[in-house]
Amino acid sequence: MGLNDIKARIAKAEKKAGRAPGSAQLIAVSKVQPNERVEAVLEEGHRLFGENKVQEAAGKWPAFQERFPDARVHLIGPLQSNKARQAMQLFSAIHSLDRPKLATTLARLAQELGACPDLFVQVNTGEEEQKAGILPAEADAFIKEVRALDLPLKGLMCIPPVDETPSLHFALLAKIAERNGLEGLSMGMSSDFEQAIAFGATHVRVGSAIFGERDYG
Ligand SMILES: *Cc1c(COP(=O)(O)O)cnc(C)c1O
Repeated sequence: MGLNDIKARIAKAEKKAGRAPGSAQLIAVSKVQPNERVEAVLEEGHRLFGENKVQEAAGKWPAFQERFPDARVHLIGPLQSNKARQAMQLFSAIHSLDRPKLATTLARLAQELGACPDLFVQVNTGEEEQKAGILPAEADAFIKEVRALDLPLKGLMCIPPVDETPSLHFALLAKIAERNGLEGLSMGMSSDFEQAIAFGATHVRVGSAIFGERDYG
């Protein structure tokens, strides 16, 4: 447990997969964690974080970034169109692009603001009703649509169903990315990031294994 342990496990998984050191970036998922824990990880020198709610990130990251100006935050949770403008100003990447309406909103705001975070299309690889994301069968068409809007699309993201073997989902996501010429793969969490790296993850999203369990109390 802890930042250094996770970094060591990532390095080992990269090596085992024959990948270059640092080719899988660690997103430290700080949602719900007490500020002291986040601060400790910043003090240890880590600079890339993930949050799943715009409001929560807006409440804590501007203050951290005053002290750690090179800290970057990625949005890994669902984004409502009416929060898109705020999200584009807070986050350096958005991993949850999951519908045409959001894509057109982001494109309009990108024009207006003259900048856009890196984007990942979320794919609902398990075709779960309650989960966000484009269905695998619709992914190619949606990726084309996003590209036609001139948005900075970097890759794909998935959250495998909790009760299934994650590897099958990582393999599926990697396959969709490859046939669409996308390099970014945001996949793998505390329980399965090493497997995700074996399947080509470029961004692993690890929360509780770094910070400890989240207390939603
Ligand atoms: C919370 C969250 C994570 C991190 O989960 P852990 O199991 O704590 O590592 C990763 N990805 C997403 C989308 C999340 O919401």
